[in-house]
Amino acid sequence: MANIQNNLQSIRQRIDNAALRCGRNPGEIRLVAVSKRIGLSAIEQANRAGQTIFGENYMQEAKEKIEQFQGTDAEWHFIGHIQSNKARDVAALIDMVHTVDRIKLAKALNRHAGEYNRKISVLVQVNVGEETQKAGILPGNAEGLVRSLRDFPQLEVKGLMTMPPFKSNPEEVRPYFRILRKLAEDFSAKGLFWDSNRFELSMGMSGDFEVAVEEGATLVRVGTAIFGERPALSV
Ligand SMILES: *Cc1c(COP(=O)(O)O)cnc(C)c1O
Repeated sequence: MANIQNNLQSIRQRIDNAALRCGRNPGEIRLVAVSKRIGLSAIEQANRAGQTIFGENYMQEAKEKIEQFQGTDAEWHFIGHIQSNKARDVAALIDMVHTVDRIKLAKALNRHAGEYNRKISVLVQVNVGEETQKAGILPGNAEGLVRSLRDFPQLEVKGLMTMPPFKSNPEEVRPYFRILRKLAEDFSAKGLFWDSNRFELSMGMSGDFEVAVEEGATLVRVGTAIFGERPALSV
């Protein structure tokens, strides 16, 4: 059994140390506990230990969990691929969507969010490695998408997210994190994000979140290092 409270403490310490090493304020970095395929009791343990942001990839699973946490301080981020027929549930229940990568999806989220009278924070997912099998918009098309999203009144475009190519050495991921930061700095300078003074960069997972923090991450998405290995996907 993973000791969730200890893991959370040690990850937070590592985030803070990475921030201080490069002169950043640790307070501007939030930890998203990735709870996909993790059971309620482990999530409850994390929440009792002070963790408030949880990241989910599958809407059906997220929906059941979110119901159980009604009335708590838990906040739910969506970090997986969104099928169009799930946009309604996402718009109803999710606080921040990290994975907007096409206009059609944004349109559906905006429409459903309007029905629920909600504003949703969104990030644009960028395929910085330009990998054919991966979700995310290509870096060269990201500005156009970010500009188009400003037509959707229920969506607040806060920044960018990426899943870089897998590398066993986190240092090899650094250049991809840097590409994402440079893009976001450029868009921010052009006034394209919801907040003109700051932007979100969702990058870094269990194996590379310290490098991501050094490169400017404001949201790190950590699963395994908190909850231990996930059960395999059952087919
Ligand atoms: C599963 C997942 C994570 C967390 O990965 P770990 O290696 O377990 O920390 C982060 N981001 C996304 C998009 C994921 O799907």
